[in-house]
Amino acid sequence: MHILLMGPPGAGKGTQAASLVKEFQIPHISTGDMFRAAVKEGTELGKQAKACMDAGKLVPDEVTIGIVRERLAKDDCKKGFILDGFPRTVEQADALGKILSDLGLSLTRVLSISVPAADLVERAVGRRICKTCGATYHVKFNPPKADGICDECGGELYQRADDSEETMTNRIAVYERQTKPLIEYYQKAGIYSEVDGRQPIDKVTKDLVKVLKG
Ligand code: ADP
Ligand code: ADP
Ligand code: ZN
Repeated sequence: MHILLMGPPGAGKGTQAASLVKEFQIPHISTGDMFRAAVKEGTELGKQAKACMDAGKLVPDEVTIGIVRERLAKDDCKKGFILDGFPRTVEQADALGKILSDLGLSLTRVLSISVPAADLVERAVGRRICKTCGATYHVKFNPPKADGICDECGGELYQRADDSEETMTNRIAVYERQTKPLIEYYQKAGIYSEVDGRQPIDKVTKDLVKVLKG
């Protein structure tokens, strides 16, 4: 099961990926998570990524494609993966096609979680993430049992630096301009499916699993 999860910022990709990991026992590969880890570690990659992320711009393709190539070459990806947040440009999609064919792999399905732009800012601004295990919450739509504390591990919750209203405006515009063309790209490849992301989290998961098993 080699899955690609698409959708605008705040659509619920990370949230759904966590459920799909449990369902299919395959790794979750998020370029956003990889960049945030690099920023935290203060590596050269992290320094390069941080400026782009804070501005709501894409990290340059040559950097992004390189880290994905390295990650997908690892053994655990052979049985499957859930790729989240990559590709975000047609150039990245072409590069992914090449990386997978070099590895003798191909995408099973591209799943897009559709949410209207009007809902995305509220989702991102209310998003909270566990510092320890990365679990995702929302102050209104998916609150933790105790304020600011992760249900799964007791870790402290934080807000992403780029989850502000202004940065979200840029990120949504970048999605519309650079990532949306991938819908047609994968429709043409005959592997594209869309799920209504305005539904409750559990219902979205059910719909995704139905597409994948159907
Ligand atoms: P993405 O990875 O696509 O940016 P996330 O999975 O981090 O999105 O979700 C963004 C925010 O919206 C989080 O705070 C999450 O809890 C919340 N969220 C996710 N799915 C839903 C949903 N179906 N309904 C309401 N809120 C949701
Ligand atoms: P979301 O889906 O909520 O926008 P991500 O965690 O996927 O957030 O990405 C956060 C930021 O990391 C993006 O705004 C961008 O700066 C950078 N990023 C993530 N994935 C890519 C990618 N495939 N290409 C370029 N930049 C990326
Ligand atoms: Zn946690």
